[in-house]
Amino acid sequence: MNWTTEEIRYLEEHQGEGAMAIAEALGRTVISVQVQACRYGISLVPRWRCPKCGAVTRKPLSSITGWCANCTKEARRDRIAEEVREMEEEVRRAERENRERQALYSKKHRMKKKLESMKSE
Ligand SMILES: [Zn+2]
Repeated sequence: MNWTTEEIRYLEEHQGEGAMAIAEALGRTVISVQVQACRYGISLVPRWRCPKCGAVTRKPLSSITGWCANCTKEARRDRIAEEVREMEEEVRRAERENRERQALYSKKHRMKKKLESMKSE
């Protein structure tokens, strides 16, 4: 059975989904899809479009993020940067706290000395 123009267009538009999916959608055999693809110079190598950046990739999208490898890496980098920011803030607070405690200790020490010297006068 000859392929209709609509079927060829469908093949072009969905080529990245692979022969099996196209065959199922059109009610054709996988062989038939492959033959038509070959005839029209259409590559059936699976491809995916990243929903985040819109890029087409030959690597499957990440099962965790649903994005391409680059978007997934960017997201991971952002997360690490956020963790670093949180740790920096924690260290800053701890350092400030130590400084203020040290300052109070030495003040306390000075006051104690002063009181002692007053008593002995
Ligand atoms: Zn992406």
